[in-house]
Amino acid sequence: MKTGGAAAWAADVIIVGGGPVGLALGALLGRSGHHRVLLLDARAAFPVPEGVDPRVYALSRASQSLLERCGAWEALAPRHAWPYLRMEVWDGARPRHPASTLVFDAAELDQPDLGHIVENARLEQALRESALACDTVRLRSGTRVEALELAAAGAVVVTAEGERLQAGLVVAADGAGSRLRALAGIEVQQRDYQQRAIVTHVTTEQPHGQTAWQRFLPTGPVALLPLGDGRCSVVWSADDGLADELLAMSDDSFATALGEATEYALGTLSAPEPRIALPLRRLHARTYTARRFVLMGDAAHVVHPLAGQGVNLGLADAAMLADCLDADADPGERRGLRRYERTRKTDNLATLAGMDALQRIFALRREPMAGLRAGGLGLVQRARPLKRRLMRRALGV
Ligand SMILES: Cc1cc2nc3c(=O)[nH]c(=O)nc-3n(C[C@H](O)[C@H](O)[C@H](O)COP(=O)(O)OP(=O)(O)OC[C@H]3O[C@@H](n4cnc5c(N)ncnc54)[C@H](O)[C@@H]3O)c2cc1C
Repeated sequence: MKTGGAAAWAADVIIVGGGPVGLALGALLGRSGHHRVLLLDARAAFPVPEGVDPRVYALSRASQSLLERCGAWEALAPRHAWPYLRMEVWDGARPRHPASTLVFDAAELDQPDLGHIVENARLEQALRESALACDTVRLRSGTRVEALELAAAGAVVVTAEGERLQAGLVVAADGAGSRLRALAGIEVQQRDYQQRAIVTHVTTEQPHGQTAWQRFLPTGPVALLPLGDGRCSVVWSADDGLADELLAMSDDSFATALGEATEYALGTLSAPEPRIALPLRRLHARTYTARRFVLMGDAAHVVHPLAGQGVNLGLADAAMLADCLDADADPGERRGLRRYERTRKTDNLATLAGMDALQRIFALRREPMAGLRAGGLGLVQRARPLKRRLMRRALGV
């Protein structure tokens, strides 16, 4: 697919990667209209599943504001963005008990909700439509970038077909395994969690009550996220050995194992959809910028999904980068890219470190750590000012 005469488009900015983060930047730049944008994606088509997409995100209030700014939110809410009002978190080392359960409640902060659950395919669709509604944005699908040349005068990407496309700036939003990051010679620090996230949807015996449920097991956290059709989306992060077992189980055995893992917080579980397994790692690029080149989204940083922050961080990158690029006539201007990097690195590194620490703390099985941890959750629950600070940060308000 070549959309809207993209083949002959002379772009100021080339965005490689039409996932949610690249599309958000395209939509934001398109709305301000200062730069002509060419979006490239390797995928030939962008199908939207009839049922609920297996990949869903918990989007923060800050991400909602950004989607409103892009003009994408109206296409999602209310049919395809499902608010969740509460969140319950507890430790797997102790039986579930109110004294050691952390409860976040939107009403405590006078907020209408804690965020929304949104399907990946619908989010991409809404952002794609917003971006392509702008005269200054074109999209080329089925276009894989395989080489990169960065020079003072301009940047060039070379597609798999050998076509050379030039712009003042190349933005790499090509995901965790970013080819462009490697082509730009940017090194990463990474840690393989030796876990995979098993993702599926299930029917629950009791209503989910617009609550997100998360239990931290020593083998990784298991979460039930409330969907609009009454079911729950499952994100079960499990050590590789356990992940193999969970993937090999029959549907009934998996539903039983999941019921036990969530202590039947929503009663018995049934009818799981096909399971998808995603490898989990922490990754951070040593730098986000090179000459006429910048990284964003998962290409720059990958976090453990235990707090569902990946897309939220990527959308915040898009907002900041759009502001920095709009401030300069030349989008490859080093000063603007540096400002973006300075601001986003601080926020991204803090989140990465926080997720890493939580992952390590909850993986400890021995006493006294297990007891301290369960007590700690209860303590935060009772320490109202601290809890409100945590909630405000998670909401991005
Ligand atoms: C199990 C799990 C649960 C998660 N839950 C949440 C959650 O609740 N909330 C949240 O905020 N985040 C969540 N995340 C994180 C989220 O999935 C990522 O942060 C997000 O997908 C990153 O978006 P992106 O646009 O940066 O990259 P991607 O979505 O990976 O998109 C990259 C795009 O680049 C294209 N591409 C790749 N290489 C090339 C190339 N060479 N040429 C052209 N195109 C190319 C690809 O086709 C793709 O479209 C979760 C992650 C996992 C694993």
